[in-house]
Amino acid sequence: MSEVQRLAFPPRSQFFSALKSRVDGYFTERGLAQTGNARLYLKAVFALILTLGSYAMLVWGVEHWWSAALAALVLVQSMALLAFSVMHDGCHGSFSQKRWLNWVAGAMMDVMGSSNVLWRQKHNLLHHTYTNVDGRDDDICIGALLRLSPNQPRHRVHRFQHWYAPALYSLLSLYLLLYSDWQRMFSGKIGETPMQARQWWEWPYFLFSKAFYIAYALIVPMLYHPVWQVLLVFIGIHLVFGLTLSIVFQLAHIVPETEFPGPAEGGKMPYEWAEHQLRTTANFAVGKPLATFYTGGLNYQVEHHLFHKVSHVHYPAISRIVRDTCAEYDIRYLDSGSTWQALAAHFRFLRQMGHPSAA
Ligand SMILES: [Zn+2]
Repeated sequence: MSEVQRLAFPPRSQFFSALKSRVDGYFTERGLAQTGNARLYLKAVFALILTLGSYAMLVWGVEHWWSAALAALVLVQSMALLAFSVMHDGCHGSFSQKRWLNWVAGAMMDVMGSSNVLWRQKHNLLHHTYTNVDGRDDDICIGALLRLSPNQPRHRVHRFQHWYAPALYSLLSLYLLLYSDWQRMFSGKIGETPMQARQWWEWPYFLFSKAFYIAYALIVPMLYHPVWQVLLVFIGIHLVFGLTLSIVFQLAHIVPETEFPGPAEGGKMPYEWAEHQLRTTANFAVGKPLATFYTGGLNYQVEHHLFHKVSHVHYPAISRIVRDTCAEYDIRYLDSGSTWQALAAHFRFLRQMGHPSAA
């Protein structure tokens, strides 16, 4: 088995030292913690109540197909709120200063059918370190049917990828639940990269959480409703959930303006880590409170990638510091514009990557 090459970023630049001390200064001057605040905890409770309430309605409270569809729609949107605003911060350790609370927040991933242990490996260690690096960042290595980087080989089928990508995106959470999580646990690898700091309890925790999910999401509803109806709603919820998660994460990195740097000879990366993040990440819908609320601050991905230990509730405030410091050091700060402009940019990029003239 071939060893995975170590990639090394050049030493930290003056730019990031200056930016970090300014951002740290913002928090110390105001006596603020860099983790979540009361507003975030209120939002977490709201998302949790909405999730539990819509689940209960779906299983015990609805009598018509249209009320079931409505309850399922509320359930999937509240799951998205939990994923973006609670689970994501929790897995990064930015939800709270309390370790156990971060763990509980991160465990929302298990409650929604996937695995927070695997997410921490895939997202925190690989995606956040090697953003847009082919073969390392699992978010751009979705499979041969999608060409998400100019460094990946182009096949004839990619010419149509901007048409069928949403269908593949919508399979994300079902794919994690049914195949990918299991493949990763058995192989101990994410893609080609071996997982780090494995713990003895990961397997029993993984099996317990999958059994718990199947019990409440499939078996309990089947006690009250026909099997085919439960399966229909279960699959429908996963398709919408998968599409929502994929689109929000893809808008930040897979657009024409972002870059896809790769290592040179000996595994040397061309840009230091912070500049790498700025070249591979773009914001969207900046200054739009509804987008920030819904995506859990993932519209401020630049700030998230530079300061992933800072809760998303602070991103709008530190965004000004990041923009100003980038301008001062003559470093490009990528902003795709509105949500619609970012969506259009993503699909334009997919079309470009699949076109016969693409590099
Ligand atoms: Zn993240």
